[in-house]
Amino acid sequence: MIFFKGRKAVIATKHKKEEVIAPILEKKLGLICVTPNELDTDLLGTFSGEVERSGDPITTLRKKCQMAIKKTGISVAIANEGSFGSHPAIYFAPVDEELVMLLDDENGIEIIERELSFETNFDGTDIKSVDELDEFAHKIGFPSHGIILKKAKDNFKGIIKESQSIEELIENYHKIKSVDCSAYAETDMRAIYNPTRMKVIARATEKLVSKINTLCPNCSIPGFSVVDGQKGLPCEMCGLPTRSALKHIYRCYQCNFQMEKEFPFEKRVEDPQYCDFCNP
Ligand SMILES: [Zn+2]
Ligand SMILES: [Zn+2]
Repeated sequence: MIFFKGRKAVIATKHKKEEVIAPILEKKLGLICVTPNELDTDLLGTFSGEVERSGDPITTLRKKCQMAIKKTGISVAIANEGSFGSHPAIYFAPVDEELVMLLDDENGIEIIERELSFETNFDGTDIKSVDELDEFAHKIGFPSHGIILKKAKDNFKGIIKESQSIEELIENYHKIKSVDCSAYAETDMRAIYNPTRMKVIARATEKLVSKINTLCPNCSIPGFSVVDGQKGLPCEMCGLPTRSALKHIYRCYQCNFQMEKEFPFEKRVEDPQYCDFCNP
């Protein structure tokens, strides 16, 4: 990719995300990645709640990139922002949504990609005994994944992070628990303490790179991508339109060039099981 080859890029992270992000950007875009030592992205919010996140994730991403560009004077920045919670459509299923952004200040390019994964150990529970703590630790994959201990769910005073072993975790529980033995344990979602999340960040970065590598056929700017879709792929049996994608619409954010791609999933008809008429 000529656009980025040989240029420096700053990875706006303090939780070792560069370990998964940098190799992908270096290999597939030819960027030379650097990670600043003193970039405190936690000022923009933390997962454990000591600093509340303000604004939507895209605004936070942009701020992280701009912060890194300002600090280093490098004009290309990459940042990541994860959010966790219940999936809006699939009730109670915990999901990890990772957004990644590339900002090129010199050329006015901003490209975003997202990856949604059900593969997450995002969790939290009230703890009333060592047994319950042990059970939670087992469930989320401690100690390869971190646990954060709090006095209570919404109490951010005296939080204990970074227990290394089950012995240390139990010791810390005894330190933080209240007189009735209650405390709150939650999965540490900081990427460095959560290899499961790190994998999702890697997948999001791969997707970002393939988006960057798609150039506008008209002006050749990187990041030509789908902005809209149209339903109506015909049913194989009755020929009526189904809710499946008939076409994807691509639009260039730079020159507004637009292109439609019919049958985006290489499928010209839909299976009757997805047809509202054949299979209501
Ligand atoms: Zn264009
Ligand atoms: Zn049908």
